[in-house]
Amino acid sequence: MFTDHQLKEMAGINTKSPALTVYLNTDPAVGNAETIKLRLRALLKGVEPEPDVKAVMDYFETHQPMAGRGLAMFSASGEGFFRAVWLGVPVRDQVFSGHQFAIKPLADIFDLFGGYGVILIDRQGARVFHFHLGELVEQEGVLGTLVKHTKRGGASTVAGQRGGTAGQTNYEDEVVERNMKEIAAFASHFFEEKHIRRIVIGGTDDNIALFKTQLPKTWHSLIIGSFAMSMTASHAEVLAKAMQIGKEAEAARDLQTVRSVISRAGKHAGAEIGLENTFQAVSQSRVQTLVVTEGFRQSAHRCTGCGRLTLHSNPQCKYCGSKIVPVEDGVELAVNEVMRSGGEVEVVRTNPDFEKVGNIGAILRY
Ligand SMILES: [Zn+2]
Repeated sequence: MFTDHQLKEMAGINTKSPALTVYLNTDPAVGNAETIKLRLRALLKGVEPEPDVKAVMDYFETHQPMAGRGLAMFSASGEGFFRAVWLGVPVRDQVFSGHQFAIKPLADIFDLFGGYGVILIDRQGARVFHFHLGELVEQEGVLGTLVKHTKRGGASTVAGQRGGTAGQTNYEDEVVERNMKEIAAFASHFFEEKHIRRIVIGGTDDNIALFKTQLPKTWHSLIIGSFAMSMTASHAEVLAKAMQIGKEAEAARDLQTVRSVISRAGKHAGAEIGLENTFQAVSQSRVQTLVVTEGFRQSAHRCTGCGRLTLHSNPQCKYCGSKIVPVEDGVELAVNEVMRSGGEVEVVRTNPDFEKVGNIGAILRY
């Protein structure tokens, strides 16, 4: 499993030699090994440096059958560095050649498909799942006391029918409540241990409501949705449902994030909007959360001394006097920089309002 920690590590790698990044869609739905290999060849046509291209081709050819629906490869052969990451979700074909690894597409996938906790509940127990990047990482279960529908005490309670019925209902409720307490404690522990960032609940409306009353408040903000599903569902069914809810929740959150950064920037309340302003905030390590539209790229300029990014093509840096050189994608560099300084990157879908203000913005630390 590729973790957030490893993602941050990748973003922190400073290659002194050229670096090649390749994202490849290896979904069986789009082709077999042979056709994917041909696509990879076409993608790499004319790409340099040759040793990295060779390393990437070699890896693909010697790692069959494919271990996922998406593959990311990072090669800096000048430093003897190579890493491949297989993903359970498809990626778009992309090739980046430069002095930095292109981490953003991987960060996007983490953003959409990382750290899912799914819990299926009924009145007696629960099954919990940890899905990460489209794959089942772990699955556990808890089983409480069987909720009996027969009368408590058997034949001896037959005499008092009214009392018996009331007693039975109370008893059932008690058992269910006790089970829910146990399920909630079990789930909290699981979510915490697996560093779950999103929770999806499956079950009947009644059981979901009961479960929520027992689940500590701190987890409530992570719940992104719920759905009706049987306890005996296959993990493929659970994953499909979770991914669907995840995508919907993500769209809603994107909208909220974009609105928030635009409104805060408008009031000068701890946010910046637009590329040049964002570059400045990045250079000053003031970015808490970088917000950027998916797929947004922009050529820019960068100081060879202090590393500042700018849209302006001044020959010299006004801060350190070093030479300023053009860079193919300033957004990518800003993403790397923010991740390196411990900030977050929020990749959002295309939004007309955000497009108007430049497709990028930042929520600041101070
Ligand atoms: Zn400088």
